[in-house]
Amino acid sequence: MFEGTLKKMITERAEPIQYFLELSRGFIHLNNFLDQQVSITHTGSQCLNCHQELPIFRQGFCKSCFFEIPAAGDWVMRPELSKAHLDQEDRNLDYEKKMQLQPHIIYLALSSHLKVGVTRKSQVPTRWIDQGAHQAMVLLEVPNRYLAGIGEVALKEVFSDKTNWRKMVQNEAEPVHWDAVFEKALDHLPKELKPYMKPDERHLEKMDFPVLHYPLKAQSLNLTKTPFYQGKLMGIRGQYLLFEDQTVFNIRSNEGQKIKFQPIL
Ligand SMILES: [Zn+2]
Repeated sequence: MFEGTLKKMITERAEPIQYFLELSRGFIHLNNFLDQQVSITHTGSQCLNCHQELPIFRQGFCKSCFFEIPAAGDWVMRPELSKAHLDQEDRNLDYEKKMQLQPHIIYLALSSHLKVGVTRKSQVPTRWIDQGAHQAMVLLEVPNRYLAGIGEVALKEVFSDKTNWRKMVQNEAEPVHWDAVFEKALDHLPKELKPYMKPDERHLEKMDFPVLHYPLKAQSLNLTKTPFYQGKLMGIRGQYLLFEDQTVFNIRSNEGQKIKFQPIL
Protein backbone atom coordinates (compact mmCIF):
# COMPACT_ATOMS: atom_id res chain seq x y z
CA MET A 1 0.00 0.00 0.00
CA PHE A 2 1.12 3.55 -0.78
CA GLU A 3 0.07 6.62 1.16
CA GLY A 4 0.66 10.31 0.83
CA THR A 5 -0.50 13.76 -0.23
CA LEU A 6 -1.35 14.13 -3.92
CA LYS A 7 0.79 16.32 -6.11
CA LYS A 8 0.52 16.40 -9.87
CA MET A 9 2.04 13.39 -11.59
CA ILE A 10 5.61 13.65 -12.79
CA THR A 11 5.95 12.73 -16.45
CA GLU A 12 8.67 11.53 -18.73
CA ARG A 13 8.35 11.92 -22.47
CA ALA A 14 8.59 8.53 -24.11
CA GLU A 15 6.40 6.43 -26.38
CA PRO A 16 4.11 6.20 -24.56
CA ILE A 17 4.53 8.87 -21.87
CA GLN A 18 5.62 7.53 -18.47
CA TYR A 19 3.79 8.69 -15.33
CA PHE A 20 5.03 8.77 -11.74
CA LEU A 21 3.17 9.61 -8.55
CA GLU A 22 5.21 10.71 -5.56
CA LEU A 23 3.80 9.46 -2.27
CA SER A 24 5.46 9.21 1.14
CA ARG A 25 7.58 6.14 0.39
CA GLY A 26 8.84 7.36 -2.99
CA PHE A 27 7.67 7.26 -6.58
CA ILE A 28 5.09 4.86 -8.00
CA HIS A 29 5.50 4.17 -11.70
CA LEU A 30 1.82 4.24 -12.67
CA ASN A 31 2.24 2.72 -16.14
CA ASN A 32 2.96 -0.55 -14.33
CA PHE A 33 -0.59 -0.61 -12.95
CA LEU A 34 -2.36 -0.43 -16.31
CA ASP A 35 -4.93 -3.20 -16.77
CA GLN A 36 -4.97 -3.77 -12.99
CA GLN A 37 -7.47 -3.17 -10.22
CA VAL A 38 -6.42 -0.45 -7.80
CA SER A 39 -8.16 1.34 -4.95
CA ILE A 40 -8.02 4.96 -3.81
CA THR A 41 -9.02 5.88 -0.25
CA HIS A 42 -9.39 9.50 0.79
CA THR A 43 -7.87 10.08 4.24
CA GLY A 44 -7.74 13.87 4.64
CA SER A 45 -5.97 16.90 3.22
CA GLN A 46 -2.71 18.72 3.73
CA CYS A 47 -1.60 22.09 2.33
CA LEU A 48 1.33 21.68 -0.09
CA ASN A 49 2.95 24.84 1.27
CA CYS A 50 2.54 24.93 5.07
CA HIS A 51 1.93 21.14 5.40
CA GLN A 52 -0.84 21.71 7.94
CA GLU A 53 -3.79 19.35 7.74
CA LEU A 54 -6.21 21.99 6.51
CA PRO A 55 -8.93 22.05 3.84
CA ILE A 56 -7.55 22.82 0.38
CA PHE A 57 -8.71 26.10 -1.11
CA ARG A 58 -7.07 26.14 -4.56
CA GLN A 59 -4.00 24.73 -6.36
CA GLY A 60 -3.20 22.42 -3.45
CA PHE A 61 -2.92 25.27 -0.95
CA CYS A 62 -4.95 26.15 2.15
CA LYS A 63 -6.82 29.44 2.02
CA SER A 64 -4.26 31.57 3.84
CA CYS A 65 -1.31 30.20 1.82
CA PHE A 66 -3.21 30.71 -1.43
CA PHE A 67 -3.66 34.41 -0.67
CA GLU A 68 -0.14 34.94 0.70
CA ILE A 69 2.57 32.89 -0.98
CA PRO A 70 4.41 34.19 -4.04
CA ALA A 71 3.80 30.94 -5.97
CA ALA A 72 0.04 31.65 -6.01
CA GLY A 73 0.07 35.26 -7.22
CA ASP A 74 -2.46 36.37 -9.85
CA TRP A 75 0.26 36.48 -12.53
CA VAL A 76 0.54 32.67 -12.35
CA MET A 77 -2.87 32.14 -13.92
CA ARG A 78 -2.90 35.50 -15.73
CA PRO A 79 0.61 36.01 -17.16
CA GLU A 80 -0.32 39.46 -18.56
CA LEU A 81 -0.38 40.75 -14.95
CA SER A 82 3.36 40.02 -14.57
CA LYS A 83 5.30 43.06 -13.34
CA ALA A 84 8.80 41.83 -12.49
CA HIS A 85 10.11 43.28 -15.79
CA LEU A 86 9.10 46.72 -14.41
CA ASP A 87 10.84 45.95 -11.10
CA GLN A 88 7.43 46.01 -9.40
CA GLU A 89 6.60 43.58 -6.62
CA ASP A 90 3.38 41.59 -6.36
CA ARG A 91 4.16 39.39 -3.32
CA ASN A 92 7.93 38.76 -3.43
CA LEU A 93 10.00 40.47 -6.08
CA ASP A 94 12.99 38.09 -5.89
CA TYR A 95 10.76 35.08 -6.52
CA GLU A 96 8.80 36.90 -9.24
CA LYS A 97 11.99 37.92 -11.04
CA LYS A 98 13.28 34.38 -10.95
CA MET A 99 10.04 32.97 -12.36
CA GLN A 100 8.93 35.72 -14.75
CA LEU A 101 12.24 36.92 -16.21
CA GLN A 102 13.11 33.75 -18.08
CA PRO A 103 12.26 32.51 -21.58
CA HIS A 104 8.57 31.76 -22.08
CA ILE A 105 6.74 30.31 -25.03
CA ILE A 106 3.32 30.93 -26.53
CA TYR A 107 1.91 27.76 -28.06
CA LEU A 108 -1.11 26.16 -29.59
CA ALA A 109 -2.07 22.74 -28.25
CA LEU A 110 -4.69 20.25 -29.35
CA SER A 111 -6.39 18.04 -26.79
CA SER A 112 -10.12 18.32 -27.51
CA HIS A 113 -10.00 21.50 -29.57
CA LEU A 114 -7.24 23.94 -30.38
CA LYS A 115 -6.23 26.15 -27.45
CA VAL A 116 -3.65 28.83 -26.85
CA GLY A 117 -1.36 28.74 -23.84
CA VAL A 118 1.75 30.17 -22.27
CA THR A 119 4.47 28.47 -20.27
CA ARG A 120 8.05 28.79 -19.14
CA LYS A 121 10.31 27.30 -21.81
CA SER A 122 11.66 24.87 -19.21
CA GLN A 123 8.12 23.45 -18.85
CA VAL A 124 8.00 22.16 -22.42
CA PRO A 125 6.77 19.46 -23.07
CA THR A 126 5.57 18.91 -19.47
CA ARG A 127 2.86 21.54 -19.80
CA TRP A 128 1.43 19.92 -22.94
CA ILE A 129 1.48 16.47 -21.39
CA ASP A 130 -0.30 17.82 -18.26
CA GLN A 131 -3.03 19.26 -20.46
CA GLY A 132 -3.49 15.98 -22.29
CA ALA A 133 -2.52 17.53 -25.64
CA HIS A 134 -1.63 14.93 -28.27
CA GLN A 135 -0.34 17.64 -30.63
CA ALA A 136 1.21 21.04 -29.99
CA MET A 137 3.16 23.74 -31.81
CA VAL A 138 5.34 26.53 -30.45
CA LEU A 139 4.32 29.89 -31.91
CA LEU A 140 7.16 31.95 -30.50
CA GLU A 141 9.62 32.37 -27.68
CA VAL A 142 9.80 35.63 -25.70
CA PRO A 143 12.20 36.68 -22.92
CA ASN A 144 9.68 37.14 -20.10
CA ARG A 145 6.24 36.17 -18.81
CA TYR A 146 4.63 39.56 -19.42
CA LEU A 147 5.27 39.43 -23.19
CA ALA A 148 3.93 35.88 -23.31
CA GLY A 149 0.85 37.07 -21.43
CA ILE A 150 -0.01 39.90 -23.81
CA GLY A 151 0.37 37.48 -26.71
CA GLU A 152 -1.99 35.06 -25.04
CA VAL A 153 -4.58 37.76 -24.35
CA ALA A 154 -4.57 38.73 -28.05
CA LEU A 155 -4.88 35.12 -29.20
CA LYS A 156 -7.76 34.37 -26.82
CA GLU A 157 -9.86 36.49 -29.18
CA VAL A 158 -9.42 33.88 -31.90
CA PHE A 159 -8.62 30.66 -30.00
CA SER A 160 -9.95 29.10 -26.82
CA ASP A 161 -7.76 29.05 -23.70
CA LYS A 162 -9.64 26.22 -22.02
CA THR A 163 -9.45 22.45 -22.34
CA ASN A 164 -12.72 20.52 -22.50
CA TRP A 165 -11.67 17.80 -20.04
CA ARG A 166 -14.53 15.47 -20.91
CA LYS A 167 -13.70 15.43 -24.62
CA MET A 168 -10.00 15.15 -23.81
CA VAL A 169 -10.42 12.03 -21.65
CA GLN A 170 -12.83 10.58 -24.24
CA ASN A 171 -10.27 11.21 -27.00
CA GLU A 172 -12.62 13.35 -29.09
CA ALA A 173 -10.56 15.90 -30.96
CA GLU A 174 -11.26 18.17 -33.88
CA PRO A 175 -8.84 17.85 -36.80
CA VAL A 176 -6.51 20.83 -37.20
CA HIS A 177 -4.81 22.29 -40.27
CA TRP A 178 -1.61 23.31 -38.48
CA ASP A 179 -0.01 25.45 -41.19
CA ALA A 180 -3.16 27.53 -41.47
CA VAL A 181 -3.64 28.03 -37.73
CA PHE A 182 0.04 28.88 -37.24
CA GLU A 183 -0.26 31.70 -39.76
CA LYS A 184 -3.58 32.88 -38.37
CA ALA A 185 -2.05 33.03 -34.89
CA LEU A 186 1.00 35.06 -35.98
CA ASP A 187 -1.33 37.51 -37.74
CA HIS A 188 -3.21 38.14 -34.49
CA LEU A 189 -0.21 38.74 -32.23
CA PRO A 190 0.40 42.32 -31.10
CA LYS A 191 3.13 44.30 -32.82
CA GLU A 192 5.36 44.31 -29.71
CA LEU A 193 5.91 40.61 -30.41
CA LYS A 194 6.90 40.97 -34.07
CA PRO A 195 10.66 40.93 -33.30
CA TYR A 196 10.32 37.44 -31.80
CA MET A 197 8.43 35.82 -34.65
CA LYS A 198 10.19 33.18 -36.70
CA PRO A 199 7.54 32.22 -39.24
CA ASP A 200 9.69 29.54 -40.87
CA GLU A 201 10.32 27.66 -37.64
CA ARG A 202 7.35 25.48 -37.08
CA HIS A 203 7.43 22.01 -35.72
CA LEU A 204 4.47 19.82 -34.83
CA GLU A 205 5.06 17.98 -31.54
CA LYS A 206 3.19 14.75 -30.87
CA MET A 207 2.46 13.09 -27.54
CA ASP A 208 1.48 9.45 -27.13
CA PHE A 209 -0.47 8.70 -23.93
CA PRO A 210 -0.56 5.28 -22.25
CA VAL A 211 -4.22 4.42 -22.80
CA LEU A 212 -5.53 0.90 -23.43
CA HIS A 213 -9.13 2.04 -23.70
CA TYR A 214 -10.81 5.45 -23.50
CA PRO A 215 -14.08 5.99 -21.60
CA LEU A 216 -17.15 6.78 -23.73
CA LYS A 217 -19.03 8.72 -21.05
CA ALA A 218 -16.57 9.89 -18.42
CA GLN A 219 -17.63 10.54 -14.82
CA SER A 220 -15.28 12.45 -12.57
CA LEU A 221 -14.33 10.92 -9.21
CA ASN A 222 -15.03 13.27 -6.31
CA LEU A 223 -13.15 12.12 -3.20
CA THR A 224 -15.46 13.99 -0.85
CA LYS A 225 -18.54 12.16 -2.16
CA THR A 226 -16.71 8.89 -2.80
CA PRO A 227 -13.99 8.44 -0.17
CA PHE A 228 -13.31 4.86 -1.32
CA TYR A 229 -13.03 3.92 -4.98
CA GLN A 230 -11.88 0.74 -6.66
CA GLY A 231 -11.51 0.20 -10.39
CA LYS A 232 -9.39 -1.14 -13.21
CA LEU A 233 -6.88 1.40 -14.53
CA MET A 234 -7.17 1.57 -18.33
CA GLY A 235 -5.14 4.64 -19.14
CA ILE A 236 -3.52 7.91 -18.15
CA ARG A 237 -3.87 11.12 -20.11
CA GLY A 238 -3.06 14.67 -19.05
CA GLN A 239 -3.31 14.53 -15.27
CA TYR A 240 -6.22 12.06 -15.36
CA LEU A 241 -6.36 8.39 -14.44
CA LEU A 242 -8.90 6.63 -16.68
CA PHE A 243 -10.77 3.59 -15.34
CA GLU A 244 -12.68 0.79 -17.03
CA ASP A 245 -16.05 1.76 -15.45
CA GLN A 246 -15.98 5.29 -17.04
CA THR A 247 -14.64 6.89 -13.86
CA VAL A 248 -11.82 9.40 -14.36
CA PHE A 249 -9.72 10.90 -11.58
CA ASN A 250 -8.08 14.29 -11.99
CA ILE A 251 -4.89 14.18 -9.92
CA ARG A 252 -4.13 17.85 -10.46
CA SER A 253 -7.43 19.15 -9.14
CA ASN A 254 -6.96 16.91 -6.09
CA GLU A 255 -3.52 18.23 -5.15
CA GLY A 256 -3.25 18.42 -1.37
CA GLN A 257 -5.70 15.55 -0.80
CA LYS A 258 -4.31 12.69 1.26
CA ILE A 259 -4.91 9.23 -0.12
CA LYS A 260 -4.03 5.57 0.19
CA PHE A 261 -3.32 3.92 -3.16
CA GLN A 262 -3.56 0.17 -3.20
CA PRO A 263 -3.02 -2.26 -6.04
CA ILE A 264 -5.45 -5.20 -5.75
CA LEU A 265 -3.68 -8.45 -6.55
ZN1 LIG B 1 -1.06 26.36 3.91
